[in-house]
Amino acid sequence: MFREDAYLKTASACVLAVHERGIELDRTIFYPLGGGQQGDTGVFFRESGERIAIGDTRKGDAIDSVLHVPLPGMPRPEPGEMVTLEIDWERRYSLMRLHTALHVMSCVVVAPVTGGNISPDKARLDFDIDMSLLDAGKIERETNQLIARGVATETVWIADEELDARPELVKTMSVQPPRGAGRVRLLRIPGIDLQPCGGTHVKNIAEIGGIRVLKIRSEGKRNKRVEIALAA
Ligand SMILES: [Zn+2]
Repeated sequence: MFREDAYLKTASACVLAVHERGIELDRTIFYPLGGGQQGDTGVFFRESGERIAIGDTRKGDAIDSVLHVPLPGMPRPEPGEMVTLEIDWERRYSLMRLHTALHVMSCVVVAPVTGGNISPDKARLDFDIDMSLLDAGKIERETNQLIARGVATETVWIADEELDARPELVKTMSVQPPRGAGRVRLLRIPGIDLQPCGGTHVKNIAEIGGIRVLKIRSEGKRNKRVEIALAA
């Protein structure tokens, strides 16, 4: 459900199975760790009102399966039981703002992306670029200028073959878009960025507000790391 609407904070779902690694539902608003974005945290409410705190969300073995990992000591629901889901929205919204900010920043630093990570308080991209070409002040200023355009983001789907024909769309060497479903999801920020991405994004880049560059450092020959935080 997070793919259709990243702003869903609550929903009801049915417990399909309770695995060693986590709880599987028939549908979910919890984003599982992937593409550098941390998995969601939150709560399940049972019909009795009992709370099951969820400390992490991971992908399961099957395509599109999601495992909700309860905190230690939490009660386990029964298969077939209905639960009300609630994500930690403040945390997720920070992840969405930072994630979308990385899309914008990836258009300011023109180089192949070799890695990335998004946590609620900071995010980073690694670039295959010479250190001398990375200027924190310039990256911050130009990224914030683009954010100030306040354009709406769009999700578009293209066929696998179309993506194969346009390899320039894939900036992130370490995270190849998921194949096999016949189509690939892309995030478009009109006039700024277009790239395959399965993560959660804000509707309008104005919601990012602005960013600060925290640090730039070398993590190896092909990994020059730019770390950012939200300006406010
Ligand atoms: Zn994305």
